[in-house]
Amino acid sequence: MLVNLNGKLVSKEDAKISVFDHGLLYGDGVFEGIRIYDGNIFRLKEHIDRLYNSAKFIMLDIGMSKEQMIKETIKVVSASKIRNGYIRLVVTRGVGDLGLDPRKCSKPTYFIIVDNIKLYPEEFYKKGLEITTVAIRRNISEALNPQVKSLNYLNNILAKIEAINHGSFEAVMINEQGYVTEATGDNIFIVKNGQLFTTPPYIGVLEGITRETVIEIANSLKIKTHEKIMTRYDLYTADECFLTGTAAEVIPVVKIDARVINDGTPGSITKKIIREFKKKTKILGVKVKYD
Ligand code: PMP
Repeated sequence: MLVNLNGKLVSKEDAKISVFDHGLLYGDGVFEGIRIYDGNIFRLKEHIDRLYNSAKFIMLDIGMSKEQMIKETIKVVSASKIRNGYIRLVVTRGVGDLGLDPRKCSKPTYFIIVDNIKLYPEEFYKKGLEITTVAIRRNISEALNPQVKSLNYLNNILAKIEAINHGSFEAVMINEQGYVTEATGDNIFIVKNGQLFTTPPYIGVLEGITRETVIEIANSLKIKTHEKIMTRYDLYTADECFLTGTAAEVIPVVKIDARVINDGTPGSITKKIIREFKKKTKILGVKVKYD
């Protein structure tokens, strides 16, 4: 396992940052999670674009071009020799003082970790996941917009803790108005009468890159897809349901708040999308040349 820390390749043990870094002190920073499939960094350009959009929103000048960031990412993946894995790219406000004024942080810190990840046990990809809606509300967009992939994930972590306390692996967060938003690290889709529905970004969700890929797949399969404001009712009465995310990939959901979906087995459209998604993972992205 290797880390690119501000441009230098270091081991896990040597990958250390200051306790005065505002990424640590205040969650002041942005990040991306990216997968590598068979030496292909899946949708790297899209992830870098989103990273720079998140940074722009929080007025963090990353201090290097997108092209340079892509090069730094490829550099550490190539040196790590990992052909199937996960990249965590983090940019923080950098080292400052104990106040929260970002102007005191003169230089951002960045690091790119290449490792492995497993979000849910393998068996759930075959038999489906049970999820729970939780009491904690998704951040409202006017406070901390969920479209920004910031280092401040406490909202999601609190939801995850609540799901775990209910004996469930994953939480679905509802917003202030009672509308469905997303899971703690995944977007949510349902199938109803052969059509696909997912929540619109303006409701307060991250515009997932896996979500986008699934919408493209659905279009190519001539499955109509809609962005729709949904309530718990739509989830409970869905014909099928699945979650999408870089780490989770596409995972079927078979139970929501004890309501059984599709007789408790992954649905046929879900399975078709998973098959197509697997094909795309090898095609879309940037191929790495390993030394
Ligand atoms: N929502 C949240 C809150 C997330 O953290 C993630 C993971 N980045 C997603 C959705 C899925 O996004 P993506 O498909 O780009 O990984």
